[in-house]
Amino acid sequence: SLPLASLDPEIAAAVSEELRRQQTTLEMIASENFAPEAVMQAQGSVLTNKYAEGYPGRRYYGGCEHVDVVEQLAIDRVKALFGAEAANVQPHSGAQANAAAMFALLDPGDTILGLDLAHGGHLTHGMRINYSGKLYNVVPYHVRQSDLRVDMDEVAELAREHRPKLIVAGWSAYPRQLDFAAFRRIADEVGAYLMVDMAHFAGLVAAGLHPSPVPYADVVTTTTHKTLGGPRGGVILSRAGLAKKINSAVFPGQQGGPLEHVIAAKAVSFKVAASEEFKERQQRTLDGARILAGRLLADDVAEAGITVLTGGTEVHLVLVDLRDSALDGQQAEDRLHRIGITVNRNAVPFDPRPPMVSSGLRIGTPALATRGFGTDEFREVADIIACALKEEDLTDESAALLRGRVTALAEKFPLYADQTGPADQ
Ligand code: PLP
Repeated sequence: SLPLASLDPEIAAAVSEELRRQQTTLEMIASENFAPEAVMQAQGSVLTNKYAEGYPGRRYYGGCEHVDVVEQLAIDRVKALFGAEAANVQPHSGAQANAAAMFALLDPGDTILGLDLAHGGHLTHGMRINYSGKLYNVVPYHVRQSDLRVDMDEVAELAREHRPKLIVAGWSAYPRQLDFAAFRRIADEVGAYLMVDMAHFAGLVAAGLHPSPVPYADVVTTTTHKTLGGPRGGVILSRAGLAKKINSAVFPGQQGGPLEHVIAAKAVSFKVAASEEFKERQQRTLDGARILAGRLLADDVAEAGITVLTGGTEVHLVLVDLRDSALDGQQAEDRLHRIGITVNRNAVPFDPRPPMVSSGLRIGTPALATRGFGTDEFREVADIIACALKEEDLTDESAALLRGRVTALAEKFPLYADQTGPADQ
């Protein structure tokens, strides 16, 4: 059969250009990573052709003997990786995992507590026009204005007042660890389920470098493509007693046929995540974020009105606070894009600017750690970012110098070096 480049040159060209973009720039979007080629190989396999509604050993289609092996391996590996009693590896994404978990635990109209989107929560934790905000009665909790940490006193007060059926702990933009034991105590006091969405920090948990929510939560959801470094997808971990409800909420409740090619890729990534190499990489991820925060807290950056939310980080990302800076989030994102560093602007809590502009940047280190960056390279990239952001006007000359430093780092750590485009796959 025809290779992609012959059958569909337009798509092949866009894929090649995307490969080139990834190879020649520095990826610092906190939710992104580079999947190993073995993961992409599994994802691009013949498993893409197979219908397998149901679960291993209990399918609604024939010919599932091999995908049963694949899915059971994925389940067993992720349970072992996180010490969970039960796992569902079928959710197509993190949002689907959250939807299915809530569908299992709640009825429409039930009350949930979740971190406000504007304070670092995810859309699925109760945003107004997300399914979660439409189906459930959402009571948002917040970070404190004084130190921008999640206000557990407010969580407890809101829980006592509103008696939620579910408390969601987890975040998309928050640079600190959460107190899972405190969330558990509050959930127990008011008789709520506790769900932790560890999508962002799952890789750190797998490596033992971040407290695990599994002993505290009734349900833990995650994506598999962020710090975990696998294919795009979702997983639901739970106590054994909830497994039946959750399985039935995923299929037939929310989804039809599982993506067995993606499940195979998830299984590969769970194997990788159990390795020493993975742990060492997560350590470099954390070290890189701390180095970046340290550099952005230095006096020369502070003079430009730029600082770091909460004064540092305990995870894989840094939130840059531009509330007192002439540069807004959009301009800062564009400036880094101009020199070959990809990040996303992000609203900060109590943001005076509108969400499309915003007063923050979210900068993450997982993809660069996967690329091989260590302390020296993270120092260099932190300095490049500091230099780019602190200037009142970034001249073409300065931008070219910074772009040169970015290129040198990218060239030092070749990415997918054996590939030049889809024609070679
Ligand atoms: N949960 C959290 C905390 C996230 O940050 C995200 C993605 O950004 C998701 C869930 C949703 O994952 P997906 O984009 O795979 O639906």
